[in-house]
Amino acid sequence: MVMRLVMNSDTPSAIVNRLSISSIVLAIAGSFSCSLMVIANDGKKPKNTKGMLQPASVLHVAEGLNSDGSLVKHYQRGLRYATKYFGHYGPYYIYLLGPDSEKSVHTIYRQRAMSRVKLNSKLSTEQQIDSFLKRPNVASEIKAVLSGKSEGGLTWTQEPPILYEDVTTNAKQREKDPIENTWGALHEYHHVFQMAHCDTTQKRTSDKHINSWMAEGMATYSSAKFMENMGLVDFNGYMLQLRETGGNIGRPGINEFLAKTKGWRLENESYWDQGGSAQVYYMLGAWATAYLIHVQGVEEVVVLKSWYQDIPRIGKSAAFKKHMGLSLADFYKRFDVFIRQPDESVMKILED
Ligand SMILES: [Zn+2]
Repeated sequence: MVMRLVMNSDTPSAIVNRLSISSIVLAIAGSFSCSLMVIANDGKKPKNTKGMLQPASVLHVAEGLNSDGSLVKHYQRGLRYATKYFGHYGPYYIYLLGPDSEKSVHTIYRQRAMSRVKLNSKLSTEQQIDSFLKRPNVASEIKAVLSGKSEGGLTWTQEPPILYEDVTTNAKQREKDPIENTWGALHEYHHVFQMAHCDTTQKRTSDKHINSWMAEGMATYSSAKFMENMGLVDFNGYMLQLRETGGNIGRPGINEFLAKTKGWRLENESYWDQGGSAQVYYMLGAWATAYLIHVQGVEEVVVLKSWYQDIPRIGKSAAFKKHMGLSLADFYKRFDVFIRQPDESVMKILED
């Protein structure tokens, strides 16, 4: 998986994610593009606060992609697994884009603009659509699509209409790689679930928002574990790869990073700008998640899911202490000692 960005939001600093589908109620194939609308509906309402929603995910697929149906099929097997596990949050719009038809891409971006139209705005619908399409980040994203560049990631809105979007500008790569396609769908949907339980208008250091290692590390852990549950990857082998090579996240891996970097801290939010975000947030974050489950002995579903549900009510520090059984400060100290051990020692925690 190419490391997928966690945050682009509309308003200054933004977000992440993906959705689930339990039944296809409507499918529309236009002549210009193949647009699939998939509505998830299992009859259950999400328990959560903000961003809780109509259980709906909508896939937009640009013309020239998905000719044999495998692109959408491999994406959906991940999304289906993730929504079954986390519940339905949304609306969630998935954009799988490519450069073959400019007309199709423009049609899809217009639909994307329409999904964001505010009913109570002083601007007309047409004015709102125009203004979205003219945003510099949107205009440059369209350019990236048409030139076949890979960009994108999870986005969300911070004001009504609340929605989540997973944008892949060059889905041709996903199409060729069914494993990474499914893996990406799992990873991004964990972010949708996370962001639905955070106040994303706050900084990641805030008690109402989660740190980057929690977002990326837990999604890295969960997606690899779910891939193993689906029979698609070897989870323990993947966790070892994160130490030895960095696996599908990037280079270097944890061992080389730790040998060179003495003063790293999981909760330091500056690695996005200064480098090291792949190693600290994704790789060390995944191992921090493993520590909570396999050393601290917290149930997997509590670490990956339940504890988040208390964040809106009591904040992340109290929610962490309540569910993990130790304070964040104590956890950081213990994990630091643990992760410096050799591969053989840390790998032992994953046995049985
Ligand atoms: Zn991510």
